[in-house]
Formats: sequence, structure tokens, C-alpha cells
Amino acid sequence: MPPYDGSHGLHGTTAAIEFAVLTLEVERIVVCGHSHCGAIRAAYEGVPDEAINLKEWLKLASEALLPVRACPEALRRTEQRAVVLQLERLMEYPMVKRQVEARKLSLYGWHYVIEDGEIHVFDAAQLAFVPASVASTPGTGPYREYVEHDGQILCD
Ligand SMILES: [Zn+2]
Repeated sequence: MPPYDGSHGLHGTTAAIEFAVLTLEVERIVVCGHSHCGAIRAAYEGVPDEAINLKEWLKLASEALLPVRACPEALRRTEQRAVVLQLERLMEYPMVKRQVEARKLSLYGWHYVIEDGEIHVFDAAQLAFVPASVASTPGTGPYREYVEHDGQILCD
């Protein structure tokens, strides 16, 4: 998620957010990282010099990197930190901030642990990722009833 800079141009990710929030009026945005993420590993280990665009994208994760060797624990924590960083960046988008503050849009930070087959959700109150099976909330809220297509009401 690139920072919002308000400039005009071929900003694909920014365009997608604008379309989702302003046109589709989505009620939820999920930022979902995952275990064993090659991008996070590459942010530590680097990529070939020819990959000039990839390098720029990986720089977006630099704030999430830890000043340690890229061991499995550091990689996992960095994957989670990158999710939170992207949630923070999303809130810099004026249309996102406005809709969240109007309680019309909820942001969720998830970390999918592939080997366990379980999503850990970012709990803003605990400032921690909690396994979804034991979490009291699925994300950062605000929470409202969600009506499925079959009319079933799910409370988050
Ligand atoms: Zn990945």
C-alpha cells in the first residue's frame, strides 16, 4: 500500500482504493498478509538490480523491517508489522479516513498462517494478532451486523 500523495498519475493501487471506496462504497477492506511471504523475505535479502520497480515496491515495507537477521520469528513479526503499516497508510487516504470516521467502512488486518490454516486478526485493543478462532473481534471495527445473501445475520 503506497502512501497517499495526492498526485495525478498511473497509480494502480490508489485507483483501486478510490474505486472501491468512492464508487463501490465497500464496507470492509481487509489487508491480509501471510506466513512465508517472499516479498517480506526479499525486503530483507534484496532482489536483482534489474528489478527496479520491484525494489521501489519493497521499499514500501522498509518501515516494517526489524534491525535483526531475517530469522523465521523476525519474518513473521515483519509480515504482521507490514499489515499494520498498510492499515495506517490506508487511513492516510482521505476517502478512507472519512468513511471510517463516519463508521461506514471497517478496516481489518489479517495474517494468514498457511501451515496452521488459520487467520490471525489484528486486535487494535490488544495491539496484537490473535488467532481468529479465539478472537473476540475480526479486526479493527467499527462493527455492524452483516447480512448474508441468504438473509442470515452475522455479528462481528
Ligand atoms: Zn507474500
